[in-house]
Amino acid sequence: MSRKPFIAGNWKMNMTAKTGAELIEKLKPLVKDADCDVALCVPAILIPEMVKAAEGSNIAIGAENVHWAPSGAYTGEISAEMLKEYGVKYVIVGHSERRQYFGETDESVNMRAQAALKAGLTPIICVGEMLEERETGKTNKVLTRQLTVGLGGIDDITKCVIAYEPVWAIGTGKTATDEQAEETIAFIRKKIGELFCPMCAEKVIIQYGGSMNAGNCKGLMAQPNIDGGLIGGASLKTDFATIVNYNK
Ligand code: PEP
Repeated sequence: MSRKPFIAGNWKMNMTAKTGAELIEKLKPLVKDADCDVALCVPAILIPEMVKAAEGSNIAIGAENVHWAPSGAYTGEISAEMLKEYGVKYVIVGHSERRQYFGETDESVNMRAQAALKAGLTPIICVGEMLEERETGKTNKVLTRQLTVGLGGIDDITKCVIAYEPVWAIGTGKTATDEQAEETIAFIRKKIGELFCPMCAEKVIIQYGGSMNAGNCKGLMAQPNIDGGLIGGASLKTDFATIVNYNK
């Protein structure tokens, strides 16, 4: 079964309205003939300007997080409906930085993903093990917990994107090898088959994320189970276009 590859950037807490719009202007002609879906997930305050900047192009704009409630007394949070109103298509949930620094749990990740789906947004649900967990052979156990709880109660898993991001590879310049990424993503796909159905597992897009760059994207994207990338550092420059055009 063929799955359309999907390359998404994660700007994290970087860029301004000016530098972000300038980068999008540079990227537009460079990615226009991409064979994959393309998105940039940007800081919430930049969303209106970046949606405007990307208008008429094949670059969709995503958010970096979403709250689970439709509205209410949650100071500082943003709802899925609010994102939707401004033209957002995707939203990252459960990024390891949110889990590490902001106390997010598999349960809250699940609630955020469900809220995104309800509003018609595509959640990019991040999972991945810490270095110590990989080194002590706990990777599959950790992923099983993150997937079982994080995806619990989701009706249609094919409306979600999964990003496998080994925490030790994020922002470290230390990428998983093609084989490590392929083996772990194949495990994730198998687990999704068990939790949902084998056909759903064949359809769901699973990205790799963790120091993916213009130099290593070809090898990673050549793996049969890797359907794309979630790109941090390299999405802040025109290198992002090289990754999007990995097959050219
Ligand atoms: C990320 O933030 O999701 C990420 C993968 O970052 P980097 O590409 O910089 O490792």
